[in-house]
Amino acid sequence: MWCCIYCGSQSDKQFPSEHVIPRSFGAFRNNLTLHCVCGTCNNFFSGQLEIHFARATGEGVVRYRHGMRESPAPGADSDRFIARISGPGPLLGLQVRLTVNASRDGLGFDWIPQVGFQDESTDIWHWFTEDRLQLEFLKGIRFGSKVCFAVPNRADWKRLRDKVLSLGFTLGTEQQFEEIAPQTKMDARIGWSFDEVIRRCVAKIAFNHLAYITGQERSFLQREDFDTIRQYICRGPAPDQVDPNVVFIRNTESQLGFSSPAPIGGGHLIVTAWDVLGRAIFSHVSIFGALSYEVMLCKNYAASTAADSWSF
Ligand SMILES: [Zn+2]
Repeated sequence: MWCCIYCGSQSDKQFPSEHVIPRSFGAFRNNLTLHCVCGTCNNFFSGQLEIHFARATGEGVVRYRHGMRESPAPGADSDRFIARISGPGPLLGLQVRLTVNASRDGLGFDWIPQVGFQDESTDIWHWFTEDRLQLEFLKGIRFGSKVCFAVPNRADWKRLRDKVLSLGFTLGTEQQFEEIAPQTKMDARIGWSFDEVIRRCVAKIAFNHLAYITGQERSFLQREDFDTIRQYICRGPAPDQVDPNVVFIRNTESQLGFSSPAPIGGGHLIVTAWDVLGRAIFSHVSIFGALSYEVMLCKNYAASTAADSWSF
């Protein structure tokens, strides 16, 4: 009899392979796989959690770097992931869409039509995508500010210009359509939502790892001690519950850039252990060495006096 460590469902047949580290992050010589996760949970994890972790994060960009995906960024419809020009100058803060560059050896980007308004006191340009050209988003912008358009073509420029005029802004009489010369290199900074979906996916990798190193031992993994983490992974916090705060980022500054040295080793690292008192079980998860997450699998293991029977 097989029993799922997440939902508890039982089956006479063996469950499909669940990978401790999602397959989208690579195939390994000694694949870490489990057979204690049912097909329903397996499908839910891949379709609802892993897909976002693999596409709309910094780790997703590194996947592209390792040739594990065709595109470095999620589709235009994703609002979880954003890339902005980070080099000094008027384009600072301009949103761009990461793409494959012409020689396919690095990152390029596409322009996203935007309007910039200059803050006269600081000279800084504030950029707005078309969907944010609304008075409610432009509250801090003074009428009469200098306006600049970052557009890939004339049709976009005309459309955005009409929109700016319709909002009551006036434009100078000398409008010119200037092209920015091709740049050999522009720095960009990426950001993404470290939201519940991403946190639950990281927690799932950690709990999978615990299952792997403890031999998928049912009587251990199904203990109430793990109910908090299990429910969080499967369902997230209940509507009337606060987030249980079990997944943290331990290093916030990370270099994922193509020009910067690769993160140490460039591989994945998972360490699951007891805390020094032998009460809590936690896991450190680092995918590609990009960021380091800490997952609290169990804050206070009830049978901690018998902890030495689970030495891992
Ligand atoms: Zn299940």
